[in-house]
Amino acid sequence: MKQLQEKIASEGRVLSEDVLKVDSFLNHQIDPKLMQAIGEEFSRRFEHDGITKILTIESSGIAPAVMAGLIMGVPVVFARKRASLTLTEGLISADVKSFTKQTVNTISVSGDYVTSDDTLLIIDDFLANGQAALGLLDIAGRAGASVAGVGIVIEKGFQQGGKLLREQGVRVESLAIIDSLADGKATFREEAET
Ligand code: 5GP
Repeated sequence: MKQLQEKIASEGRVLSEDVLKVDSFLNHQIDPKLMQAIGEEFSRRFEHDGITKILTIESSGIAPAVMAGLIMGVPVVFARKRASLTLTEGLISADVKSFTKQTVNTISVSGDYVTSDDTLLIIDDFLANGQAALGLLDIAGRAGASVAGVGIVIEKGFQQGGKLLREQGVRVESLAIIDSLADGKATFREEAET
């Protein structure tokens, strides 16, 4: 997605050969117009898949997921990372190793909102080693829901998550794929521009 690549090129900050900071439009401040375009692109790619619900993870998956949900006309559920006083019964949980914080979080979703009637589109901001996506797929499986695919805003193609998921037969649609963060610069894979 050209618009996204241009935004990453102009505003992304390469923190190391592994980590890209995009706090100016996705992870802290949010660019609503760009999120809308991202939602439209996810909608276009999954419009024939009978999606009934979008599943994401707090907090940075929520903005792109809500835009996709608005355009596709389906609800959005986000997995919580922290225990909630009001969300205690009928929880479906999975453990996720955080890429950025190197901690393990238990993520949870209420069984009221993800069920065996659902065909899910899983959305997240980044794909690195695939732990967050695998946790969400685990939750979907436990709920008995079908998963049409995983939609990622920025995939770091030099890390293992994309390969791992695709080898398991999961459809992964990434709007930008970065092949390298060497020399302080993001290099994109051109096939991502569909
Ligand atoms: P994974 O679970 O695929 O290893 O990592 C994906 C999660 O880690 C995403 O939900 C995202 O929040 C975070 N993440 C991974 N790599 C990056 C990165 O380079 N930059 C930022 N801002 N977040 C990342």
